[in-house]
Amino acid sequence: MSTSKQQLLDQIEADILQNNVCLDLAKQAKHLVMGDGNLDAELVFIGEAPGKQEDETGLPFVGAAGKFLNEMLGEIEMGRETVYITNIVKYRPPNNRDPEPDEKRAFWPYLLKQLQIIQPKIVVALGRHSMEYFLPNARISQIHGQPKRIRVQNGQLVILPLYHPAAALYNGGMREMLKEDFKKIPKIIELIKQER
Ligand code: URA
Repeated sequence: MSTSKQQLLDQIEADILQNNVCLDLAKQAKHLVMGDGNLDAELVFIGEAPGKQEDETGLPFVGAAGKFLNEMLGEIEMGRETVYITNIVKYRPPNNRDPEPDEKRAFWPYLLKQLQIIQPKIVVALGRHSMEYFLPNARISQIHGQPKRIRVQNGQLVILPLYHPAAALYNGGMREMLKEDFKKIPKIIELIKQER
């Protein structure tokens, strides 16, 4: 019997624990938040790191930013159950501080493995922290909403950088830009499908 996607993802989780990835963060966190959603998703979202509610529940994007994300998914008629959601850093940084460069670097290979298993058509990077390793030196204010085809160690993928919903939540201008960018997602998926 072939190994299922869930088993492969469980192995990544076991590897993170076994390899003591970001032990300092791990010691303060309640959960390792691996990700959640449809393992055959065409669309994967990558956020920054779990916040308080995500740490409590072990699930990504369940707080205020998650509600806004769900709302935007509803507007493009994609239910949350159709997508997969994870973060670059998988433990909550204390007091919700920004993830450190070495923390992002430590989790990056595991994120790539998750993507290799799920094989989405498009990866949406929410905010600069999750965009950084896919598009080094890019500025989110300049390239948000523009899909980019990139090479990663195990092949190609299409990445769409968007503003982070938590940043956009209380900033009217950014919120409108994020909502407009979000509406492009179905069309981008269709174009990718036509190419193949
Ligand atoms: N913000 C993130 O970047 N990730 C979460 O899981 C929740 C909030």
